[in-house]
Amino acid sequence: MSIKGIVVSSGVAFGQALHLNLHHEKIDYRRVSPAQIPNEQRKLEQAFNKQKCHLEEGLAKLEVGTEHYDLIEADILFLDDESLLELVANEISQLQINAAVAIERIFSDQAAELEQLEDPYLANRAQDVMCLGSRLIARLSGAQHLDLSRLTEATVILAHDLTPAEFAMLPLQHISGLVLNTGGLTSHTAILARSAGIPALLSCRFERSQINDGDAVVLNAIDGELHLKPTAETVARLTHLRQQDEAHKQQLLLLKDLPTTTLDGHSVGLLANVGSLNEISHLTDVGAEGIGLFRTEFMLMNTNTIPNEKIQYHFYCDALHLMDGKTFTIRTLDVGADKELPCLNPACEDNPALGIRGIRYTFAHPEILTTQLKAILRASNHGPIRLMFPMINQVEELDTLFELIEQCKIRLNEEEKGYGELSIGIVVETPAAVINLESMLPMLDFISIGTNDLTQYTMAADRTNPQLTRDYPSLSPAILTLIQMCIDSAKRYNVKVSLCGELASDPIVAPLLVGMGIDELSVNLASLLEVKSAIRVISNTACLEMAKHARKIKRIEELNLYLTGLSL
Ligand code: PEP
Ligand code: MG
Repeated sequence: MSIKGIVVSSGVAFGQALHLNLHHEKIDYRRVSPAQIPNEQRKLEQAFNKQKCHLEEGLAKLEVGTEHYDLIEADILFLDDESLLELVANEISQLQINAAVAIERIFSDQAAELEQLEDPYLANRAQDVMCLGSRLIARLSGAQHLDLSRLTEATVILAHDLTPAEFAMLPLQHISGLVLNTGGLTSHTAILARSAGIPALLSCRFERSQINDGDAVVLNAIDGELHLKPTAETVARLTHLRQQDEAHKQQLLLLKDLPTTTLDGHSVGLLANVGSLNEISHLTDVGAEGIGLFRTEFMLMNTNTIPNEKIQYHFYCDALHLMDGKTFTIRTLDVGADKELPCLNPACEDNPALGIRGIRYTFAHPEILTTQLKAILRASNHGPIRLMFPMINQVEELDTLFELIEQCKIRLNEEEKGYGELSIGIVVETPAAVINLESMLPMLDFISIGTNDLTQYTMAADRTNPQLTRDYPSLSPAILTLIQMCIDSAKRYNVKVSLCGELASDPIVAPLLVGMGIDELSVNLASLLEVKSAIRVISNTACLEMAKHARKIKRIEELNLYLTGLSL
């Protein structure tokens, strides 16, 4: 039996199934009857005890003095405080609420108190306390913890959803595949899975009851199928498919040192999207010409504090060293919406994707932005850096940013720290940015079209919602029109135009983008050679024809058929 899903990272994976149920169910806020109160208090005590045992087990495996050790120890001490348990138990009886609601109330109060403290270490603990509360609530509803330290087998992870931060914590060496009920091609977890080269299927409607932990499953993330209880025939067929896939990847490696040029000699920049030093060190494996998008928020997924200026400066210098003079485009922190970071306080907004995210988040926390800007300015003294700002809508935002950069330079002068000059660009990822582009282009050295968010905001379709991913893809007449508007405007102002959304990583679409006049494509590492191969086997004349025809197509399905037909 097999279940369909959307391939977001291709490959074939064999392994043992493991369900991850990390999140608690919705909290039930109804009052409980007086008779239920002792039961709720008993459940509360059990949850505290189980959580403490779990943390103590974790602590035993860690080295004393490491940051991780200290954090776990602090959580244990917090839970050990008997007056805390008493406080929550009293809340249950006084307000006649269940244990989950009481934990939520008391832990929020405790976190709010910590947040007010002057000491930044204690203020940061607020986040940990909220997290601990949420884990206790999860315990009450039987959800698990992200403790995969004992995994040794090749494991196919099955979950309802997984945040990018949770993905970043998985022991990837033991994970052969990933299958989620939610998500789509451009969700950030998908992007991370692709970067890590882990075959992944999202929007896959498996039921928890269909698969037991430990069952052998096969993930065919080429045709988009998860096979349960695979027959010997299926295993043989998919083993063969995997061999073919690996042979194809080997074949592509032969292109690594060849230029990204069409048959008639038109060159296109082919850069990579990355999120860690590790990925930067793999650029040469696929012959990337540089980095078109460095998602700096990805390097913060796994830490509990934001690195200071010095640490960031050293980090960018290390990256420059690895880049060896190649194009290096750093995007400033782009957080919010589906990219919540453990080191930042989550914003409580009704509509996070339309709220304080991207550049708005860093405007609201200028010290985070200036620390990053100063570190990048200093690093640019050691090599060329293109600096790119996310979620820019209008010229006023650029005015503020240019002003901030000047202030950072003044501070660096005062601190007698050297800095270099930066090329400045923006990610064009909202319809407003496209419409306002001509007012901003005179201030910019380059732009990069972020089709992931551009699609989300143009279509008013949440990029992580599996019910919408099929009907509102980036490859659509509306998005192609906006891309063309950007390219035409950029050319009028002689500004380089790149495209860093996932659309660029699709080898079927890349020649179309070339025909539309794109200067550079920035793609995920796993797709880079596929894209290069697609560009090298076509002429620019054919790309121009393709663009002329495709731009006249009015329907998404027809556009797909036209492009897949051409690639057959
Ligand atoms: C985009 O929105 O297209 C983009 C490249 O940025 P991200 O996927 O990180 O939001
Ligand atoms: Mg974006």
